[in-house]
Formats: sequence, structure tokens, C-alpha cells
Amino acid sequence: MQGLMMDYQLTLRPILERAYRFYPKREVVTKVGATTHRYTYRDLYHRTAQLAHALGKLGVRESDRVATLAWNTYRHLELYFGIPCIGAVCHTLNLRLPPDQLIYIINHAADKVIFVDASLLPLLEKIAPHLKTVEHFVVMTDAPLQTSLPNAHSYEDLIATEPTHYDWPDLPENTAASMCYTSGTTGEPKGVLYSHRSCYLHAMSVCFGDGLGMTTNEIMMPVVPMFHVLAWGLPYAATMLGAVQVFPGPHMTPRDLVGLIESERVTLTGGVPTLWLGILNLLETEKFDLSSLRSMVVGGSAAPQSMIEAFQKRHNIRVVHAWGMTETSPLGTVCNLKREMLDLPEEEQYRIRAKQGIASPGVELRAMDEDGKEVPWDGKAMGELQVRGPWIASAYYNDERSVGRFDDGWFRTGDVVTIDDDGYIHIVDRTKDLVKSGGEWISTVELEGAIMGHPGVLEATVIAVPHPKWQERPLALVVPRPNAEAPTKESIIAHIAPRFAKWQLPDDIVFVEAIPKTSVGKFDKKVIREQYKDYVLP
Ligand code: ADP
Repeated sequence: MQGLMMDYQLTLRPILERAYRFYPKREVVTKVGATTHRYTYRDLYHRTAQLAHALGKLGVRESDRVATLAWNTYRHLELYFGIPCIGAVCHTLNLRLPPDQLIYIINHAADKVIFVDASLLPLLEKIAPHLKTVEHFVVMTDAPLQTSLPNAHSYEDLIATEPTHYDWPDLPENTAASMCYTSGTTGEPKGVLYSHRSCYLHAMSVCFGDGLGMTTNEIMMPVVPMFHVLAWGLPYAATMLGAVQVFPGPHMTPRDLVGLIESERVTLTGGVPTLWLGILNLLETEKFDLSSLRSMVVGGSAAPQSMIEAFQKRHNIRVVHAWGMTETSPLGTVCNLKREMLDLPEEEQYRIRAKQGIASPGVELRAMDEDGKEVPWDGKAMGELQVRGPWIASAYYNDERSVGRFDDGWFRTGDVVTIDDDGYIHIVDRTKDLVKSGGEWISTVELEGAIMGHPGVLEATVIAVPHPKWQERPLALVVPRPNAEAPTKESIIAHIAPRFAKWQLPDDIVFVEAIPKTSVGKFDKKVIREQYKDYVLP
């Protein structure tokens, strides 16, 4: 027997309209140079409708891919809704990718129009001759248009005279809404195509109390770029709730971000650990009032326990650890403590908070061993994490590499995990980053986390280097903390030794000025491994 409930389609239109109807005066704030741009959800709605009309005039039709090359700004938010709500696909381009990868991605997605921030024009002008499908470029600026791009338009001119209402189509919920390519840590990037339904349900999961607990009274600042997995779905969730949104634009230094948190009284923010490490370092030497901040979400790579502790103990800021991937929209697991854990000793609570948490409601997970058997949830057995759910990809976009990654309706993540008997996952490493030493595995993530707990260390990463006897051995790269007593190899080893078996400790530690990072701010182990492939261990 069928249930008798409405077959209501989950699309982005009602998310936008809800903000307009119930929160027309709530603000969307964007940092633009020395000033801030402010407008309301009413303005957002009207301009998004104008944009939708303009897209039609440019010849954009359902299913067409429309790309954005932009920082986190109010115009980018308009594109987040305007493009999908007419049935086209909003394709966010990672502005930090090397030119050849950007060319590959734009041609692979067959983007028809590209919206570009004026500050990113030099990048786009350089690659434009190689783009095979792009018919129009739209420059997002208040200044007169100045570009060598062919078929270029000014965003403001384009929308200025359009009507401020649009007769939005009723789209089936499985219509593609947006797409994002993985940042290509291995091989060419792979395209992930989100649907309206997946964006809607994922936004709801962000709002769950046991998710990121976003509410309408939030002042939410996505530090994670809008080109990195839709800024973790934070803008869709915030619009759904009519929460205030604060966009840093291109102003991404720790000082810029801390300044915005302070001046806009931000309550919730999210980004990768390297970013928070920079902020932590700034807070050590200067005073800021960050008392508005209730939660700082960290994901993308492992948050060191020492960092979670330092924010909490020294600055009273709660760091929430979460795990996800481009393929998982991205929220897969969130680390909130269960009520009964609040009675545990403090140290034990921090140990749990450094794990990646349990599956969001809606996501199922399991860990499988090499023989395809599920590993026990004992906190020790390691297996590859597999997930499934309504906001998990079922395939890559037009890509043969889908084969083998989405078997049996489960997505193979490539992450090696343990799962404890409370269901908390702990990312041990990516399969390809683990150090395979004499038949045993060493987690580079755990070593990094421990080394970054040393008071003299700002950043640390660990890679496998080839070894004649053991196959591979760990090598650590360490950036010393400025204004702190310089760490020595001996002091670092002494600091971490109690937590590891002797054979797990790094064979050597190299002090460097900076560690190469990926386009989304993670330690770039592919590049580092290449740099140190001939390194001779002592
Ligand atoms: P890319 O694969 O190009 O880096 P993603 O941003 O999709 O792009 O990265 C997803 C990967 O990031 C995961 O497979 C996992 O290895 C890592 N990751 C994400 N969140 C965490 C976390 N909280 N702890 C450890 N690793 C994480």
C-alpha cells in the first residue's frame, strides 16, 4: 500500500523563497576591500530573479552548465540559487587549481557561461583560448568592464533592468543542481553532480542539532570556499533558516577572518585545519574578542587534538570535528559527544572529539577489510570506509573512474578507518598516504596530530619515503612556531614517544619554512612525496 503523503519535490526554490518571505530584512554581508557590502534576503531574492532572466537571455537552458570562478561573496550566493532554480547546473570552479586542470574541468563539464570575479580575470584570460564550449563570460564587478575576454558582459549591467520576480519552473527533485570537481590530489579531478534533492536534504542535515546545529539566529561565516564542495552546504543551510551570512570575499588571512568574526559577531564558521592553526597562532600573540563564536567546524583533513584543546582551553571556542568528501556533499560524519560521554574525564572527552564522529542521520557507513568483509566496531580493526545515503554520489560525471568506486550501492571512500563500539570513526589515513613499513601500517595522520601538539610546532606533516629494508619509513616535515622556543628533533620525538610504539616514530624530522598545500589548503602529500622521494634517511 502507498502512503498518502504529498509527492513534494525537494528543490532549492523553496529554500530561497522561504528566506525571502520569512526573513526579508536579514542581512547578507560581504567584505569588499576596506568596506563591507550589506544587503538583505529581500535583495538577494530580487537580484536572483533578475539573474535568472539574464541567464535566459544569454541562452542558458535546462541542464546547461554555468560555471563560477569566484570568492565567497553575495553575488556567488545569487549564482548558487539563480542557476539551479531555472534548471541549469551551477559548476563552481576551484580558483587555486593549476591552469591545465581548470581547462580540463571546464571542457569536461562543457560549461556554456562562466561568471568570474574581476580580480580573477587574469587567470581566466590566460586559459580562455583553450576553452571549447564557453559562449559568454560575465564579469562580477562594480567598475567598468576591462578585459580581453571575448563575449564579456558586466554582471550588474546584465541584471540591472530585468524584472525582480521570476516564474520559477517546478523542477523534478532529481534535476542536477550543481557540480564540483574533486581537487585532484590523485590524477585528473573527477566531477560530482549534486541534485536539488541532495542539496536540500544535506542542508537539513547541517541544521540537525546532531549535525552542525545551525539555527535561524546564527551568524554564519563560511571560510571554506564556495568552490570547495559548495562551502560544505553552509550557504544553502543558512538560507533555508534565514540565518545571517558573512562572506570574507578574497580576504582570507587569519587577521582578516578574526577581524570579521569580531566585527560581525559571527557565531558559526567552518574551514580546514591549516586555517584554524594560523588563527590559533595569531590568537597566541594578540587579543581579539571572539566571544560570539559558539562553534568552529573543522574538516577536510584531521584536526589535531592539541588544536581542539587549545581553542577550548585558551580561547573558550568549541571546535567541532567533521568528515566529508566532495562525493558526500560533504557532510558524512560529525563528532558531537553523546550525553553519557559528558561524564568522562576531560582528557577522554578530547580524545573522542579528535575523532571524526558518527554518521549523520541519513548516512550509513561501514568499514571493509581487503577481503571484502566488514571489520568489527572495536576501535582497532582497520578497514576502508564505505558510505551510502541520499547525498552521497552514485557515480562520477562522465568518468570511467566510477568503476569500482560505487560497488553494491556503497561508495568506497579510499579512507582507512577504525570504528569504535560507540560508532565513532577515526580516520587513520588515506590508503595512499599510509606508511607501509615492514608489513605494518603507520598512520601519518596520527603522527602529524601528535607532533602539532608540541608547543614549538606550527605545522607538521608526515610522508612515507622509500626504505631499502622496511619498504617505507615515516619522514616528518615541521614548520617551527614563530616567537616560540625552536623545537629540536629530540624534543619532538620525546614529546610524541609516549603515544607510539618505537617502530612507528619518524626516522627523521626536517625543519622547513612552509609545507606545500593543495588548492583547498590541505598538506599536499603528492607534491611533498615527490620532493623527498630521494631523501636518504639517517
Ligand atoms: P580531495 O580528495 O581532492 O582532497 P576532498 O575535499 O573531497 O577533496 O577530500 C576528501 C578527503 O579529505 C577525505 O577522503 C579524507 O581523506 C579527507 N578528510 C576530510 N575530512 C577529514 C577529517 N575530518 N579528518 C581526516 N581526513 C579528512
